[in-house]
Amino acid sequence: MKQRPSFPARLDTTLAKNRPNAHGVPAPAAAAVTPAPLRNTPAAPNKNPSTAKPAAPQGHGMESGAVRARMVQKLAAGGISDAHVLAAMGTIERHRFVDSALINQAYEDTSLPIGLGQTISKPGVVSRMLELLRNGNSGKLGRVLEIGTGCGYQAAVLSLLASEVYSIERLRGLHDRARENLRHLRLANLHLLFGDGMVGYAKGAPYAAIIAAAGGEAVPQAWVDQLAVGGRLVAPVVTPGAPGGAQALLVLDKTPQGVRQTILETVHFVPLKSGVA
Ligand code: SAH
Repeated sequence: MKQRPSFPARLDTTLAKNRPNAHGVPAPAAAAVTPAPLRNTPAAPNKNPSTAKPAAPQGHGMESGAVRARMVQKLAAGGISDAHVLAAMGTIERHRFVDSALINQAYEDTSLPIGLGQTISKPGVVSRMLELLRNGNSGKLGRVLEIGTGCGYQAAVLSLLASEVYSIERLRGLHDRARENLRHLRLANLHLLFGDGMVGYAKGAPYAAIIAAAGGEAVPQAWVDQLAVGGRLVAPVVTPGAPGGAQALLVLDKTPQGVRQTILETVHFVPLKSGVA
């Protein structure tokens, strides 16, 4: 049966002035997010040409690090100012998460198909959401829940910005693909889960932050319940009354006084669906 999420019952717009940081831990000094030492070595040789991932985008005439640096410059020029987010975006090799036929577009600010009708989000949107999620925090986030692992790209970026990441995917095929895509990174703090993210993941709660990569008509109550007080949730939601199911970015802060919601710009995400497949 289709579960219908409900908006949080309590809506309080008075936000405590001295909001604790999302994980309640004193902020370490700058450059805390020196990205985890990731290996730049290509993945193990893959005999299957349809799934083989070259180490660098072809046809650019440059090494992938330089292409990524240019992408990061564009993100900064486009308004992303959180140095930790920019560093993480510059570290994770997006071309490893897309089909080999799309590798040349991997560092363009565009969403790309990842199979089973789903898409990897645009770098501009990923970095925007992560910046909102970090909310100016000077250190790492604590435990984070991601709904919609997809190809695993955003989960990898998140893992550089949080102490632990739990990422849920409802499509078995993509869950398996993400595991494959992420293997070379050996991210010990990233936990991939197969299941229906509409119910969250109670075992990891409370979360310092929750991020969704698929948009529903409302934020499931389970997400709000599993968010820590002082935590922040960023998700696309269908704008009530908007034609064609248009979505907007929702930022939800859970404060000791209640929940505060802010609707931001229009976004285009795949739909949030219940159940697994
Ligand atoms: N962040 C991902 C984006 C994937 S698109 C990336 O970097 O690739 C969003 C994903 O959300 C899709 O894979 C879709 O299957 C998944 N999704 C939709 N509803 C879901 C649900 N209830 N639980 C878990 N995943 C869901």
